[in-house]
This record gives sequence, structure tokens and C-alpha cells, in this order.
Amino acid sequence: MTTTSQAPLTLTHRFADELPELVLPWQAAPLPAPRLLAFNDELAAELGLDAAWLASPDGLRVLTGAETVPGALPVAMVYAGHQFGGYSPRLGDGRALLLGELSDGARLRDVHLKGSGRTPLSRGGDGKAAVGPMLREHVISEAMAALGIPTTRSLAVIGTGEQVARETMLPGAVLVRVAASHIRVGTFEYAARLEDRSVLRRLADHAIARHHPQAAEADNPYLALVEAVLEVQAALVASWMAVGFVHGVMNTDNMTISGETIDYGPCAFMDRFDPQTVFSSIDHGGRYAYGNQPGIAQWNLTRLAETMLGLFDEEVDAAIGKATEVLDRYPDRFRTEWRARLRPKLGLHRDDPEDPALFDDLLALLHAQRADHTRAFRSLSTVVREGRPDAFTAVVGSGPEVDAWIGRWSARRAEDAGGAGGSAASVADAMDRVNPIHIPRNHLVEETLAAATDGDLGPLETLLSVLRRPFEHQPGRERYTEPAPDSPTPYRTFCGT
Ligand code: AMP
Ligand code: MG
Repeated sequence: MTTTSQAPLTLTHRFADELPELVLPWQAAPLPAPRLLAFNDELAAELGLDAAWLASPDGLRVLTGAETVPGALPVAMVYAGHQFGGYSPRLGDGRALLLGELSDGARLRDVHLKGSGRTPLSRGGDGKAAVGPMLREHVISEAMAALGIPTTRSLAVIGTGEQVARETMLPGAVLVRVAASHIRVGTFEYAARLEDRSVLRRLADHAIARHHPQAAEADNPYLALVEAVLEVQAALVASWMAVGFVHGVMNTDNMTISGETIDYGPCAFMDRFDPQTVFSSIDHGGRYAYGNQPGIAQWNLTRLAETMLGLFDEEVDAAIGKATEVLDRYPDRFRTEWRARLRPKLGLHRDDPEDPALFDDLLALLHAQRADHTRAFRSLSTVVREGRPDAFTAVVGSGPEVDAWIGRWSARRAEDAGGAGGSAASVADAMDRVNPIHIPRNHLVEETLAAATDGDLGPLETLLSVLRRPFEHQPGRERYTEPAPDSPTPYRTFCGT
């Protein structure tokens, strides 16, 4: 290991200090020929990092973990997790490393590598990642951030200069990920099964201080932590669903305590609306289908609560009673978050008892008509702005049921406008700020990743520039608003290994 003398990057290691039982100090594998494939200037600026230095050969050595900045302590994090419902007692960073934390005084952000080589937690894996899946995480996480959805970010993707063996030999890459933290439900599951009972409490205290400080003020801070995670996850899943996002692998090790989306493996956005949509090639039962996501989040939250029963109350039955009371709030909480997202998508302000039926019927219509989710929602603002229902029927199709729904929606809007509604133009503009034109459509993502794998980064850069302004009409980019041409075989994604 070498250390740089004057790296303009300072990393702390508070997680490793407070929870040494949950980390293994480790070094990244050296890379033969690191080369920057993607760099997130905006994020670097937001983090106050010296982008020019990071992109230099010295910076790349630090970013890939080949050199350690003074004071840093890179570690592989240990966690467990329920994968497709079955428990794996020891997962952890098999191809990842936590380089350290950036601190701005107020909060910490993890700087983490993915694809950085084997660790003691690699099991059978090679510890590596291919260019395609790492750029995929870069693109989709940037799209999510631009859509305003909490997410881990990608600071950079660096080609390693090595080939990795998958079904074919593919160029390798390392992703530099920035996250509020990498504490997962699976981290709690691992800690809860350790003999040393102090680890779980320390982990919970760390998570409270870092992500949910208001829980510390509650009568029962650990129960309040579960409730806080429940709230951020209900909000997160509602935000996903409002843009047609299918995470694809909502295992408990892929659910954060912070409420950020993590692990862009087999995720994808829907074109045609169908609640049963599954993209992952390994999700045979459809466990993580679009429409199952709210229920799976609750299942995962239940696993989280189980880990802390002993912290809720010394008496088991009382602890279970308290946990159940909190978990039972989830369905209502989710529904509230979901409606709060659909209302502005339909140009509505006030809550109304008829809204759930109005929303459900719209979704049933989109499903029955096999309508493109993104285009259908976006077309609604034209109906409002120009009084042209045909903008909607052009996407969704026409018929008495479509007309009936438009009629109900119009009546509801007229009523809403009597309140805080505002002019048609201002309502339509507000709708355009929540109904994106641009999502990372699968065929476009695949096409740019194939080009990048072959060495052409141009299409990737164009796609990223489109996705960074998802709500804006971008002249000349009409192609990026089109759904994939109909295909006889459904789109499939593969876990990013
Ligand atoms: P994921 O599906 O990416 O959430 O990964 C699940 C688990 O498998 C994690 O513990 C990963 O670190 C591990 N893993 C995935 N791919 C590899 C690989 N190529 N080498 C070693 N471990 C891996
Ligand atoms: Mg994972």
C-alpha cells in the first residue's frame, strides 16, 4: 500500500470506528490501466471535491482505491440479508469497498467502490464488475436523482483495463458510489445475530444519529427508528411507482436505512403500464414485480423490526406488540404517500374522498389499454392547457371508458380549481414538473451500453444529457421520448454481476 502526500480529499472512518465488528479492513485490487469512462462533475461540485484532481492519474489512483489518502481506512462491510425470501447469514461487500466517508461537518457521505476486486466476503465471485452494468448504474441513478428520487449517486465509472469473464469476456470497470450510508436492513440482520449484544445497539445508535436524529428524542428511540425507516421507505417506493420504476431485487440487503434507492442491478422502467411487470431474469415468481413493491417494503421492514425486538422492550410480548403497532401503520402511510404523488400528476391540489377511485380507475385504464405509462401521464397537461382530450386519447386510445374517466377527472379539476387550483396554464406547468418526458427507457439504455462496451461513449453522454433534464421538452431529442418498438420477447435484465 502507498499513500499520497497531498491528496485534496479527506475521508473519515466513523462507521469502522464505531462498528469494527461489521467491517474488514481491506485494500482494492490494483488496476492495470485505469481510464475514466464517466465522471459526475455536478456531484463533485456539490460535494466540494476537486474534479480536475480526481480525474488526474493521481486522483484516479485514489478513486480506485489503489492509493489510500492519509487517515483513510478502506473496509469491506459485512451484512446478511433475505434474498427472494430466504435468509443468507453472511453476504457483505464481495466486490465492493467502503473507501471512507466525506464529512461536511453536518453529515457524512460514504465513498464506496463497486467492482474493486475480491474480498474475504467474495464467496465464489471474482469481485469484479463489467463496464455495462457499472455504466447502467451510473445512468439510472443519475436519472433517478434528476427525477428527484432519493438515490445513491455515481461519482465516476473507471475502466480497469482488464477483461472480466461473464458469458463472454467483457471489459471491466469500477463504480465510485456516493451514498448517505451503506447501512442496510441486512446490516441489522447480521448484527442482531452476533453474540455480542452491544453491536446491534451501537448500529442502531449510529443509524439514528446519522439518518434519523429525531428518533433520539422519542420515548422509545429504537421503535422510532423503525417508524422513521418505514416513513422514508414508504415515500421512496411511492416515488418509484409514480415514474414506473421496478427495482427488481428488493432483498433486505438492498434496502437502505437512509431511504435512498440502492443497488441498480436488474432494475428497469416500465414502458406499457402493467402492475405484473418483472424485468429480472431470476425473478421467476414475480416476487419483485412493479405492483408488489409496496408489500415487499413492508415485509422487509418487518425483518428490520424483528432484529430490534430486544431493544423495544425487555419483555418479548410487549416488544412484539409495540413493533406490530408501528408496522401496522405502513399500509396507510404508503397510501398517503402514493396519493400525494398522484394528485399533482393529475393537476390536483386538494385531497378528496373520491380520489382513490379516480386514481385506481386511471391505472386500470392504462393497464387495459396497454398504454405507455410515461407518455400517458405527460399527455394530461396538454388536456388541461389546451383543452384537448385527444392528447390523452392519442396515447391511451379512445372509447367510452376513456371518455368517462376524462369526464370525471375534468369535473374533479373544476372543483379543485375553485380552491388553490390556479389558471389552466399554471396547473399544466406544475403537472409538467412532476410528469417526466424522459425516463431511461430500456432500449435506449441497452443501446448506449453496447456502444460504450465497444468503446464509443458518445451515445452514453447524449443519453445522460437528456436524462439530466427529465421534465423538459428537448428539441431534436424526440427519439428519446418513444417507447421501445413492440417485441415478441419481454425485456429482461440480469443481476449486475
Ligand atoms: P447484489 O445482487 O449486487 O446485491 O449482490 C449480492 C451479494 O453478492 C453481495 O454480497 C455482493 O457483494 C455479492 N456479489 C455480487 N457479485 C459479485 C462478484 N462478482 N464477486 C463477488 N461477490 C459478488
Ligand atoms: Mg446488493
